[in-house]
Amino acid sequence: MMTTSDIIPVTTPTAVNVPTVSLDTILTRNVLDHGFVRLVDHMGDDLSIVRSARVSYNAEWRTGEDEGKDEKLINYLIRNRHTSPLESVQFQFDVKAPIFVFRQWHRHRTWSYNEVSARYSELPEEIYIPKTEHVGIQSKDNKQMRDIAQEAGITDVDLEFIRSLQEHSERGFKEYQFFIKNGVPRELARLFLGMNTYSHMFASVDLHNLFHFLKLRLHSHAQMEIRVYAEAILDLIEPIVPFAVKAWKEHVL
Ligand SMILES: Cc1cc2nc3c(=O)[nH]c(=O)nc-3n(C[C@H](O)[C@H](O)[C@H](O)COP(=O)(O)OP(=O)(O)OC[C@H]3O[C@@H](n4cnc5c(N)ncnc54)[C@H](O)[C@@H]3O)c2cc1C
Repeated sequence: MMTTSDIIPVTTPTAVNVPTVSLDTILTRNVLDHGFVRLVDHMGDDLSIVRSARVSYNAEWRTGEDEGKDEKLINYLIRNRHTSPLESVQFQFDVKAPIFVFRQWHRHRTWSYNEVSARYSELPEEIYIPKTEHVGIQSKDNKQMRDIAQEAGITDVDLEFIRSLQEHSERGFKEYQFFIKNGVPRELARLFLGMNTYSHMFASVDLHNLFHFLKLRLHSHAQMEIRVYAEAILDLIEPIVPFAVKAWKEHVL
């Protein structure tokens, strides 16, 4: 039989050092020309991490007592890679991004995804066109990268690339829409669309695996177009897990 003292706080305790967060103020970040990341939902915060960690010594009830102990424990856990308590915090994001960004994102197998199906529905005409100043040149030091900050500035080739990409993408969409109208199945008509077409997904992940994703995708070697999504996500979660983010930046990033 459970007594009152057995009941651990399952609602967020009100430790004075943990800010209360209103989701309304932190919901969406616009990314690239038509994309966004929206925080749809989250379970837990910094206090969930310390509560989970303290169950090791049956002291989960001490969570929220403050005097900086919660923050110190989070710092200790992250510094020593004691990561399982981070899994008690979960996030769900609504993401709109170009298909080539999703190709990279979906390599992260520890997330759960549901993406719009271009077999079920016709995709809206939304295409990613980089800013001219972001075209850059192929890097000489790193085979997979581009150098964006180049001395030559914006060249004629950059301008022609953007013009041609725009025209090519619009033509692809015209063919796509024409053949759908004329009865070609959506699942085949989409072959006219390029990797810069926007797609849309809901994606869920726990904080441990999100930190792993962020470490890889905030890195300067990650492609700029996924890096900006990683930056937006970090910005969205920081108010919810401020001490975890602080410790992770100090010891891991
Ligand atoms: C800059 C950059 C360049 C890249 N270039 C390429 C490329 O050229 N080609 C390419 O194919 N990919 C490339 N990738 C993708 C990369 O190889 C990883 O697939 C991707 O970053 C996901 O990392 P992950 O497997 O650690 O993450 P997750 O899939 O989220 O896995 C997290 C962790 O869980 C564990 N794990 C998950 N699944 C398994 C499993 N099946 N077996 C054992 N352990 C598992 C591992 O410890 C893993 O680190 C690149 C990634 C980056 C950041």
